[in-house]
Amino acid sequence: MKAFREKCGIVGVYGHPEAANLAYLGLSALQHRGQEAAGIVSSDGQVLVSHRGVGLVHDVFPEEIVRRLTGHASIGHNRYSTTGASQLKNAQPLVVEYGHGGLAVAHNGNLVNAETLRAELEASGSIFQSSVDTEVLVHLIAASRAETIEDRVVEALRAVRGAYALVFLSPEKLIAARDPYGFRPLVLGRVKGAWVVASETCALDLVDATYEREIEPGEIVVISDAGLASYRVSPSTVNTPCIFEYVYFARPDSTVFGRNVYQVRKELGRQLSAESGVPADIVVPVPDSGVPAAIGYAEASGLPFEMGLIRNHYVGRTFIEPRDAIRHFGVKVKLNAQRSVLEGKRVVVVDDSIVRGTTSRKIVKMIRDAGALEVHMRISSPPTTNPCYYGIDTPTRDELIASAHSVEEIGEYITADSLAYLSEAGLYAFLGGQRGGHCDACFTGNYPVQVEDQGVRQLVLFDAKDPR
Ligand code: AMP
Repeated sequence: MKAFREKCGIVGVYGHPEAANLAYLGLSALQHRGQEAAGIVSSDGQVLVSHRGVGLVHDVFPEEIVRRLTGHASIGHNRYSTTGASQLKNAQPLVVEYGHGGLAVAHNGNLVNAETLRAELEASGSIFQSSVDTEVLVHLIAASRAETIEDRVVEALRAVRGAYALVFLSPEKLIAARDPYGFRPLVLGRVKGAWVVASETCALDLVDATYEREIEPGEIVVISDAGLASYRVSPSTVNTPCIFEYVYFARPDSTVFGRNVYQVRKELGRQLSAESGVPADIVVPVPDSGVPAAIGYAEASGLPFEMGLIRNHYVGRTFIEPRDAIRHFGVKVKLNAQRSVLEGKRVVVVDDSIVRGTTSRKIVKMIRDAGALEVHMRISSPPTTNPCYYGIDTPTRDELIASAHSVEEIGEYITADSLAYLSEAGLYAFLGGQRGGHCDACFTGNYPVQVEDQGVRQLVLFDAKDPR
């Protein structure tokens, strides 16, 4: 069985006559968290109605489909990772009918003991419909003898380990939960008396919901006609939110783990300039994810900020290249270098991270081809040396260039005149140097939760740069 690395966005709405419409808008705002598949499930208090499809939110949900998803409550999911034929089968929310009626669930994260639990459940007769780790939860809930849905959910959550931000929908209740480590973000908002739950605050903004608070690590929130009730899954919480949400993943206009992502990224850029400034003429971001850090770098260094690379925002995933190969084709489909900006210049290029190194290598060549005199690559995070097991889609350790190569070797590989990464201490400068309290396993190898499943296989799905 494959272990899926979920890099997803989730949303939940309760108490709104157009709940599905709000969920649809919320998912659109969270499109950067997953572009492979999308789904919404709604409840009118009696039955659940669902629609899921492969593709972007806008394509999966034409107006007539959203209108069909009637009811006052809804949950939705954007999925990042999946493979070929099984794409739709593994799309979420998962919807089941069990002894207590209908239930739907949408998950962002990765359960590190899902395979072990699945083997146990299968041994006692469970038949799984998909290969997503989330399905384990549904089986645990169905097997529970507890009386209420919230007790059944709590019982299931006590059995799983790893990273989860979850929304469940039963005909009468919306339940949201976050793991005791708080790896993935989940926030609570209100609009006109209705409740909204979402991975990021940018989804609240789009539906005019006010930000109330985060769902706390280890908290489960149950929303019904009786109002909102909060429970604890475990008495102790650890709180190690993912630092990579700040570095790359979240949208810059979101407030994540209590901080605005754009401001954090700018600070990372300022720090980067302080640590590894270099004589140059211009600072150029790799758009879009490198932009805030490049602004910070430019501000701190006093160098002009220039858009030397222009991104095409409308491209999909694969392209047919003419037989007569085009130079830098793969990267050029998404990014083009501007000769008018780069020619004759010593250029500092700022990106948020290097994963395999292939993008940076092509970018450096492209900038040189456009006439730059020198290309200095600056990365606003430390070297990515370890894979993520908690919900960010990273390739295997072997494919992470920094796992086996020094900064100098990587610099040579990408053919930059110089390469520098942000230091581990610099990564935490925005927290006044307080290092504790975040998961930075991708940079340090310090995994807060051990991976229990045997033979967990990483998917080779990573697309160098998602189409933001
Ligand atoms: P690479 O060519 O593999 O080194 O890709 C580096 C680029 O991928 C950088 O521009 C990052 O912004 C971007 N990136 C980093 N992490 C991820 C991820 N988990 N999914 C998609 N893109 C990523």
